[in-house]
Amino acid sequence: MIMPPDRSDDLTLQNCLFALRKKFTDDNIDTADLDARLLVQAATGVDHAGLILKSDHILTAQERRTIKKMSQRRLRREPVSRILGEREFYGRDFIVTSDVLDPRPDTETLIEVVLTAVQTLQMANRPLDILDIGTGTGAIIVTLLCELPHAKGVATDVSPAALEVARRNGIKRGVAERLNLEETSWCAGIQQQFDIIVSNPPYIVKAEIEKLDRDVKDFDPHLALNGGPDGLDAYRKIAEQCPARMKPGGLIVLEAGFDQAVALASLLMTAGFKPHDDIPIITKDLGGNDRVVTMLWP
Ligand code: GLN
Repeated sequence: MIMPPDRSDDLTLQNCLFALRKKFTDDNIDTADLDARLLVQAATGVDHAGLILKSDHILTAQERRTIKKMSQRRLRREPVSRILGEREFYGRDFIVTSDVLDPRPDTETLIEVVLTAVQTLQMANRPLDILDIGTGTGAIIVTLLCELPHAKGVATDVSPAALEVARRNGIKRGVAERLNLEETSWCAGIQQQFDIIVSNPPYIVKAEIEKLDRDVKDFDPHLALNGGPDGLDAYRKIAEQCPARMKPGGLIVLEAGFDQAVALASLLMTAGFKPHDDIPIITKDLGGNDRVVTMLWP
């Protein structure tokens, strides 16, 4: 007698998604819904709409294995961007590895500030020179080069592995010809002068790193987080080294910790930077925290 195939073990796309969402919710992962969706999509090659259109699809053994491995990593608090090796920043995908800080939505505020200031100062059609200090993934400089097609960029990092990621992202986003990568500490040894200097340097108070979420402290390189005993070490270096690297009238736009903007603004003023009447010194991120400090070199 021919038996019907045993289907009791079959798992549909929809049931898998529900089960994963529940597992993540039960484990107190804030973004359970989104994370479950992104992992199932990546493991099955199905897009967002496909999750609904193909909800009855029976997962293959390979798909089930992939989802199991991915979900175990997420339950150990590895961020989805690191599991997938990719993160969206300002509408574009960037390669992310264990060697670089995972680009944050907060940092998109820095991009907005630069682009708005470029409009205000009517710089958009000039062949701008932009320096990104401690570039990591390269997400900031690569995004600015995409948005400002007449600009050229220099990006520094002390980590050769990070520079390799930035290099790949420059190629991926088609700006490699306008991007020069330099292995150095802050901007030591850089001779050129710039219209715009940007940075999202390490700014976490060293003693606070252990208190951060596991997603951050176990997976972001501490080199990219550690701002020293008061969190301001990188800003002191930048305030010291940048004046010699600015063109007259050039802009400096730096990301800061939520409680550091005033301290950073005063470090920059002491170094000779000045506020501009039409550009806010401090800009908040979408969460309402002070996030970006902007000044001009006279
Ligand atoms: N914004 C990151 C965080 O809150 C820190 C990034 C940095 O130090 N530049 O974890």
